[in-house]
Amino acid sequence: MSTFRAVVIDKTEAGQTCGFRELTDSDLMDGDVTVRVTHSTVNYKDGLAITGKAPIARRFPLVPGIDLAGIVESSESPEFKPGDAVILNGFGVGEGHFGGYAGRARLKSEWLVRKPEGFTAAQCMAVGTAGFTAVLCVQALERFGLTPDRGPVVVTGAAGGVGSVAVALLAKAGWHVVASTGRPQEAEYLKGIGAAEIVDRAEFTGQVRPLAKERFAAGVDSVGSTTLANILSMTKYHGAVAACGLAGGMDLPATVAPFILRGVALLGIDSVMSPRAERIAAWDRLAKDLDKDQLAAMTTTIPFDAVIEAGRDIVQGKVRGRLVVEIGA
Ligand code: NDP
Repeated sequence: MSTFRAVVIDKTEAGQTCGFRELTDSDLMDGDVTVRVTHSTVNYKDGLAITGKAPIARRFPLVPGIDLAGIVESSESPEFKPGDAVILNGFGVGEGHFGGYAGRARLKSEWLVRKPEGFTAAQCMAVGTAGFTAVLCVQALERFGLTPDRGPVVVTGAAGGVGSVAVALLAKAGWHVVASTGRPQEAEYLKGIGAAEIVDRAEFTGQVRPLAKERFAAGVDSVGSTTLANILSMTKYHGAVAACGLAGGMDLPATVAPFILRGVALLGIDSVMSPRAERIAAWDRLAKDLDKDQLAAMTTTIPFDAVIEAGRDIVQGKVRGRLVVEIGA
């Protein structure tokens, strides 16, 4: 039986380990479609799984990697046949089911989406869960009825993966994008992908007042904690903030003042269990509105060998934009 390389997280008496191993098909979990993985990516959640900083791995051993793109090798589902190009993000893959950091993956057909027209497999992974989540945030703000004429939109964690794609999509939709970052050296990068203004993230880490000066009509927040609480207190009357992340912490030290005195809405965003129709609509929007040159500007490609180190880097806030991992040919 042929073998393939995989990253495997395991639990020993000494704690969680993470390293490369050779696996065979018989090591894979149940599913009706087997995919030859060509590309994956590194999201913040992958970093948390690799480092064990949060309990993302829900079984041991586990192949991490919440995103993958590849080619169907065999299928018991009438929906897919060998040779089909597919992508996957979410559904607990890379958490409770073996994920994308392996030469092969066996998956449930209902988790798979055909590779969108207009994106290569590598570009799909450049978008990945982070970019997919960014478009869900933008669509949530739009569904709430917000339009660029209402005022500026703030994006926190702007130089990260979710943030970078959100900046580009919001700028393309005509918003005045205020990019909040702790990395002033990335100002030119952020302007290049559409930011109109750069602000130091320290502006949002001070003590939270119930209400502060109204600055933003909308927000996309991937940081959480004090940052999200401050953004809410600065959101204009009838504005909204789409909250998707916790890079700064899981708590929310806010008051209800923005909700009950300014009618501000907090829109929660989850990408993992996003239903299929929403998924397809989100990928269509990405294919239509995400400029390929900007996507390239925010993407760094790394070899499979470098994925564990990249996972450690992302939880330290050292990764700019998006990473594509070349898994195999
Ligand atoms: P990245 O690491 O690429 O981006 C996070 C960014 O947040 C960093 O680049 C940095 O931006 C900022 N940041 C990091 N640490 C801190 C801190 N301590 N205080 C303030 N800002 C900080 O991660 P992703 O973009 O992949 O993910 C972002 C968040 O969104 C994560 O929490 C992730 O778990 C979550 N997420 C949620 C999803 C969902 O379904 N709800 C799906 C995908 C992601 P800068 O340097 O510009 O300040």
